[in-house]
Amino acid sequence: MPENSDRKCAIVIGGGITGLAACYRLQQEAAQRNIPLDVTLLEATGRVGGVIQTEHRDGFLIEHGPDAFISTKPAAKALCEELGIADQFIGTNPKVRRSFVVRKGTLHPVPEGFYMMAPGALKPFLKTPLFSWRGKLRMALDLFIPRRERDIDEAVAHFVRRRLGTEAFTRMAQPMIGGIYTSDAENLSLKATFPRFLEMEKTHGSIIKALRAQKKQAAETSRDTSGPRYSLFLSFKSGMQTLIDTLVDILSDSIRLNTRVEHIQQDVDGTRWRVALSTGETLNSELLCIALPAVQTSALIRQVSNPLATKLNEIPYASSATVNLAFRRTDITHPLDGMGFVVPATESLSLIGCSFSSVKFENRAPEEHILLRAFVGEPTSKNAEADLIQLCQADLMPLLGIENAPLFATVNKHTQAMAQYQVGHQDVVDDIERLTRELQGIALAGNGYHGIGIPDCIRSAETAAISLLDTLCEAAR
Ligand SMILES: Cc1cc2nc3c(=O)[nH]c(=O)nc-3n(C[C@H](O)[C@H](O)[C@H](O)COP(=O)(O)OP(=O)(O)OC[C@H]3O[C@@H](n4cnc5c(N)ncnc54)[C@H](O)[C@@H]3O)c2cc1C
Repeated sequence: MPENSDRKCAIVIGGGITGLAACYRLQQEAAQRNIPLDVTLLEATGRVGGVIQTEHRDGFLIEHGPDAFISTKPAAKALCEELGIADQFIGTNPKVRRSFVVRKGTLHPVPEGFYMMAPGALKPFLKTPLFSWRGKLRMALDLFIPRRERDIDEAVAHFVRRRLGTEAFTRMAQPMIGGIYTSDAENLSLKATFPRFLEMEKTHGSIIKALRAQKKQAAETSRDTSGPRYSLFLSFKSGMQTLIDTLVDILSDSIRLNTRVEHIQQDVDGTRWRVALSTGETLNSELLCIALPAVQTSALIRQVSNPLATKLNEIPYASSATVNLAFRRTDITHPLDGMGFVVPATESLSLIGCSFSSVKFENRAPEEHILLRAFVGEPTSKNAEADLIQLCQADLMPLLGIENAPLFATVNKHTQAMAQYQVGHQDVVDDIERLTRELQGIALAGNGYHGIGIPDCIRSAETAAISLLDTLCEAAR
């Protein structure tokens, strides 16, 4: 940047993890490049964090949204290390690293080595009552079915049925994937959600062979003692809010709460953005980062680019609710010797899954107490909180042998929060990115594009921040 340049402004819309990470990266990177930049983050509600929210109540630590992030995607872990909060990481309980799946009203452990849709270890797979012998034989055919050569986007359901059969899909892949995406795997794009399985088919010609090769490699890597070793899923001693609070401490001067962006416009010469707020003010900026779910971005951008708004609307969003329930340990007869369970759609329950939160992570409940976190997919607006608690209790009582009502229960509805990456998603995102590039000084980030998890959101925020600063530098040349 030329030394005599004026101060520039950047606005970030949305104060979830995406907006916070974008704001932080804009400030850090601008300082590093010696760019005088004022960054303002606008958040519609009275708190930042978006779906990430931790509550402390009566000695319980309650996560209303996400309860962890995956450590194998580096962006979240790296940001936490940079922020100096990696010493507060906690991993999942090493004593109970297994989960259950419901079959005919009973919890069965997911066989050891089983990953999403396919077995990675023979003995536990042969012993599990989760699949019939016919189903197991069909899954073993994966070893012989030739790889598909054509590179077409395929629905997750179709891929699993093609390689491993119907039982592998209905009894395991559907509930596992449904639990992550709150979605119908019949339409979910494999390329956009689990490209790893496509890669496995491509390189090994079989998912089972690929899992076995991975297992061998993991055993070799575990002998490598260089660098810190992390659990696959990470949270913080004081919950996911730690990440939000740390960013707020750093960014507090830049954050404006209770400030909804009503609409945006670009100046005729395309060099500045005008951002109209619920307070009646209009802010101007050279750079704009919209860090919202795609469906909300669509509404804001319609006046600027109708084709872009229409494309953004092609990414559907699903709603869900988390219901946290606190119990005395003696009220639950199940040993809770796992991290939780998922529920296949064929079981016709209200729940799609449940975490045994205080077993999965330490210090989530007072001694002799248990915290459960149930997930309900697509709750309707008519489902009052009390109804949702009732539905969860009705499902949980027989599954876990619960005899009494919870000490308390809390409900958090996440309306249209979970992007659904349908078949063709990558093409939609390519179009969105092409149409966004036609506009100047704007970047989109969030869970609608290249992954829904926290590390994906952080990576998209950082990419957006860097690309905005690159445009500023290019314009100054
Ligand atoms: C129930 C649930 C559980 C999840 N579990 C996990 C998990 O365990 N691990 C994981 O990695 N991921 C998980 N995810 C996914 C991940 O948490 C989200 O994708 C991510 O947190 C989304 O962050 P965001 O900032 O993009 O959006 P949001 O969190 O939705 O934040 C958007 C923010 O923008 C604000 N806003 C909206 N409109 C405007 C406007 N016009 N003007 C100003 N502000 C506005 C909103 O108030 C909100 O604060 C989960 C998601 C949900 C819903």
